[in-house]
Amino acid sequence: MAAEHDDLSRRAVFKQAAVGGVGLVAGSVLTGAGGDQASAAVEQVAAKDEWLAERASFLSGNRLLKTSGDGSMPPRTLARGIYRPRSSQEIADLIRSLPAKTPVASVCGGHESSNAAMFASSEAIVLDMVHLTSIEFRKDGDRVLVTVGAGVVFRELVEAVKLQHGALPVGTGPGVGVVGYIVNGGLSGYFSRRLGLLGQCVESLTVVTAAGDIRVLAPGEELFTAMLGAGSALGIVVDVTLRMEPESVVKHAEQRVVSFRTRKEAVEFARGALRIQREHVLPDDSVSMEVVVSGAKVVVVTFVFYDTFRGSVADFVTPLEELAARLNLPVAMASHWSSWYQTAAALWPVITAMKGSPLAMLQHCLGTEGPPDDRILDFICNTVIARAPLDEATFSIVEIRTLGGAAASQGKIPSGNCHHQFFVDLITLYDAKNKTVEERQAIADLTTRIIDEARHVDGLAVDFSGTHSQPDDVGLAPSPPMIFGTEAMAKTVQRLKKNVDPENRFRFHPFAKFL
Ligand SMILES: Cc1cc2nc3c(=O)[nH]c(=O)nc-3n(C[C@H](O)[C@H](O)[C@H](O)COP(=O)(O)OP(=O)(O)OC[C@H]3O[C@@H](n4cnc5c(N)ncnc54)[C@H](O)[C@@H]3O)c2cc1C
Repeated sequence: MAAEHDDLSRRAVFKQAAVGGVGLVAGSVLTGAGGDQASAAVEQVAAKDEWLAERASFLSGNRLLKTSGDGSMPPRTLARGIYRPRSSQEIADLIRSLPAKTPVASVCGGHESSNAAMFASSEAIVLDMVHLTSIEFRKDGDRVLVTVGAGVVFRELVEAVKLQHGALPVGTGPGVGVVGYIVNGGLSGYFSRRLGLLGQCVESLTVVTAAGDIRVLAPGEELFTAMLGAGSALGIVVDVTLRMEPESVVKHAEQRVVSFRTRKEAVEFARGALRIQREHVLPDDSVSMEVVVSGAKVVVVTFVFYDTFRGSVADFVTPLEELAARLNLPVAMASHWSSWYQTAAALWPVITAMKGSPLAMLQHCLGTEGPPDDRILDFICNTVIARAPLDEATFSIVEIRTLGGAAASQGKIPSGNCHHQFFVDLITLYDAKNKTVEERQAIADLTTRIIDEARHVDGLAVDFSGTHSQPDDVGLAPSPPMIFGTEAMAKTVQRLKKNVDPENRFRFHPFAKFL
């Protein structure tokens, strides 16, 4: 269940793996042979009952509220079969060999907050993309492109990109799936202001449709754009080709870890840090700033300075250090990074150290399209930071990130993430092993109360992100225009869903309540 275990079982699988592939022509439709032999040919997971426990790094906190006794729950998929395809042709053949209404779930890194694809349903099959691990670089004139298989996770991509002296706006979790992140509109708090969302770097996508056709999608096609924020509901991605930037886009990064003893101290430090963020960082696209208040009783503040930065690093860092000194809070650690790679990998040790049996998680986000006003900053400090369940669920964090910049100015994709400049996520996270069902419920209730109050704050958007919302919250559904960015984008996605997946075969995704 823990990330380390996840990594070990993945490595064991990689040893046996050799990624297959078929020759593809842009825009063409290749069809498979079909027939029952096709599904027989694709590797199937024999130990179905153990699969989910091995593959899922986290379980939704909502799924852990109904168990009894010590609160343990056998995490078993409901799916009738789990397949590990090695090529687009294998996927296409498998889809065609099944009855046309059979639901299909895809699993890449297995981090989606409601675990919808991993549990699936008793009629469904799961495609576990773990064998599709190829990462291939090629030059296209001045540009460097990288084609990434649907089973690749960020740790693998970041290590490969480092060797090519490149940079991409990757997510922070080392085990998060690259494709699972892209198809739900994933954002990078460190890099998106300079490089956009990773979905905005996509040059082409190979997908298998609900009818079992293999298609290569390119910019200009409606379905291409829709895949970059709603793709988990629209098709099966086999690989994605990304435009890579040079590593020099990141000039420098500074991180300060400030310890606090009481929540009041955390609130006051965050209040000062968020003013620095609003007054000095948000107006300047050449720098980003992330403030993370953690259950480990530290506030971690990270500045990333891009190649476009012409100012003085001290103008940002010194006011923060002075703030800590004024509040009598010690700076426990100061880090200075000079590369994209160091910045991209900075949080891996912290994330992999979070272990649980299982780890329970709930994800929500709040944000504003422009700079937040005083009322909103007060709500973030006095309610979200002051009352987040950081003591009850000790791995929890409140992350306050800067977006906008390139994420706002590049071509729009169906994600609220490219419409918000000020982005706050509340990640409720704990080891469920020693928690009773009542304690888990109390943690979920604390989280829900904060999010409910946020819905009444004028100008504050709530749960507008496909990567930072909790689709299995009972009685709540995000609004389609909010989560896909605009009314027009939501309508396009809804129309395409009806056209390309009329039987709703792809139903295990974060938007299932309204798509
Ligand atoms: C520790 C941690 C750190 C994170 N950091 C960030 C971050 O920095 N930025 C951010 O935006 N988000 C972040 N997230 C959220 C994460 O990006 C999303 O939950 C993402 O959707 C997970 O993708 P996955 O492949 O790991 O999960 P999965 O559960 O495998 O996939 C997620 C969804 O995509 C679908 N999918 C997977 N593969 C395919 C495919 N081949 N074709 C079509 N659909 C597919 C699945 O069916 C599922 O609905 C983080 C989450 C965690 C737990």
